[in-house]
Amino acid sequence: MDVALATAWLRAAAGSVTAEADLLTRLDAAIGDGDHGVNMRRGFTAVVTVLDGTEFTAVGDVFVRAGATLISKVGGASGPLYGSAFRAFGKALPPGARADLPGLAGALHAGLEAVRKLGGAQPGDKTMVDAYQPALTAFEEAVAGGAALPEAAAGAARAAGDGARATTSLTARKGRASYLGERSAGHQDPGATSTWLIFQALADVTAP
Ligand code: ADP
Ligand code: MG
Ligand code: MG
Repeated sequence: MDVALATAWLRAAAGSVTAEADLLTRLDAAIGDGDHGVNMRRGFTAVVTVLDGTEFTAVGDVFVRAGATLISKVGGASGPLYGSAFRAFGKALPPGARADLPGLAGALHAGLEAVRKLGGAQPGDKTMVDAYQPALTAFEEAVAGGAALPEAAAGAARAAGDGARATTSLTARKGRASYLGERSAGHQDPGATSTWLIFQALADVTAP
């Protein structure tokens, strides 16, 4: 991944969370406070503005800046969580203009660790972790099996989508949805859904 692909990914993610903002908000209205689509759209719009105004030489810096922007522009749980994830992802990438597949896998791992450290969620708690964890596992397995980036990204996106859909039956144990207890079951988690959109954006921009 080079700087051009990094910015293309974030722009595609911005386009996708903007296009799906109503869905994300509807999901959040059912088990939260109905602002997830607005939060994501606001944050990623600000990220695109930063990308438009910055020349990057190191690929990691793209994500460090994106993460810092999300932290500063998005209130609510998802801003700090996604912001920390992208910042940790960027910091973990090898220095320089491009990152290879093992470097990307390691950085994805660091991003998930940042989410888990900040939010304390385990898999099964009905959060973005339930899309991110399976996506990471799929990505790592694809890389270990010799796959190139398009295939690894497509596998990660599929796994994230499956993970997001599987949150429907779960009872939330973290975030606002946990206030509902068992009444949170029967609804798909908004943050897991936006995580799927972000991985799908990577699959889209790398697709042959
Ligand atoms: P808020 O809940 O503050 O309004 P958002 O609606 O933007 O923030 O984001 C809600 C999403 O954030 C949830 O659907 C969930 O996926 C994620 N989330 C909330 N708390 C946590 C946590 N502790 N760990 C991981 N993800 C979390
Ligand atoms: Mg919300
Ligand atoms: Mg909120």
